[in-house]
Amino acid sequence: MQNRTRRLKKTSFIFILILILMMLFQTACASSAGKKEPELTKSVLSMDTLAQISVYEKVDEKVVDEAFAYMLQLEENLSRYAPNGDIARINSAAGVAYVKVDEETLELIEKCIDYSEQTEGAFDISLGALIDLWGIATGENHIASQEEINEALRHTGYKNIFIDKENSAVMLAKQGVILDLGAVGKGYISEKVREFLVEKGVKSAIINFGGNVVLIGTNKGKQPFRIGIQDPFGQRGEYFAVVSGSKTALVSSGSYERYFLGPDGVRYHHIMNPAEGRPAQNGLCQVSIVCDDATLADILSTAVFVMGEEKGLAYLQTMDGVEAVFVSEEKQVTVTEGLKKDFKMIAK
Ligand code: AMP
Ligand code: MG
Repeated sequence: MQNRTRRLKKTSFIFILILILMMLFQTACASSAGKKEPELTKSVLSMDTLAQISVYEKVDEKVVDEAFAYMLQLEENLSRYAPNGDIARINSAAGVAYVKVDEETLELIEKCIDYSEQTEGAFDISLGALIDLWGIATGENHIASQEEINEALRHTGYKNIFIDKENSAVMLAKQGVILDLGAVGKGYISEKVREFLVEKGVKSAIINFGGNVVLIGTNKGKQPFRIGIQDPFGQRGEYFAVVSGSKTALVSSGSYERYFLGPDGVRYHHIMNPAEGRPAQNGLCQVSIVCDDATLADILSTAVFVMGEEKGLAYLQTMDGVEAVFVSEEKQVTVTEGLKKDFKMIAK
């Protein structure tokens, strides 16, 4: 009995601690949004991270709850680990059969393949085998040998994704190929949740999905929102710069998000160079993309991180309405021309 009481006390202590941490996290995110306080802020855990919606006008709480329910439904469909979702079903039928999927899932996969082609394979949603090998997502932290990498590379490559558009179906060329939409999921889901909230009449809100931020309208004072960019060398929720202006999505990718340090001092992180089969090492530590489409921003932040600063900048220059911030391991910050007037470093 005493043991049970002690266990209960321990459980409530952990619960309270989690609540306090969540409140601290919320404060950090809300303060990135400019001076006005939101009327309503709610959070859920989704895709291993905290997803938060802040609404800056009177709103029925039910609308936000419905948005979260929709978010979790989308996550289920896109996660490798939710067995009934489209992606997990495609993965289990790899090399065996076409799998019928939602038209929206098909469109997203097609879009990803398109960007794989545009980026000469730097962005690739078929890297599951490689991601598992390095174990960064699972915490296994394995420094892979060249032999293991070569074996995993036999099961990667977007050309292994076959599309049957007429039947809205997808098939992977052989067993062992695994789709992993980690590089686009959060951006895509926040974009869909934004559409949902706009349809419900919401005119002023911020969706913050683990630091990927999507805006609806301005804040109550009719000022544009300001979005903080995560400091890649700081604590989570600590910003090094603020972006204002009229663009409505900001997504960052970086080597600081998930990584382990090897005995050789190398930071083995979660963004793979698909050509080499190992974490991208090109001197970059963070790329943030600012544009009006969070799906695109998420794709590009990962792609450009792999491409490196020089190639990445040249690629982004071929696009309209897309701006970026690069941070190098040497703490060098590069801002694209079109963003300079809306970008401000925070004095520390
Ligand atoms: P992000 O934080 O958006 O850059 O996404 C990183 C996640 O995408 C990783 O944790 C992997 O699940 C997956 N990933 C890693 N490298 C790549 C890549 N080169 N192309 C597409 N997805 C990747
Ligand atoms: Mg991404």
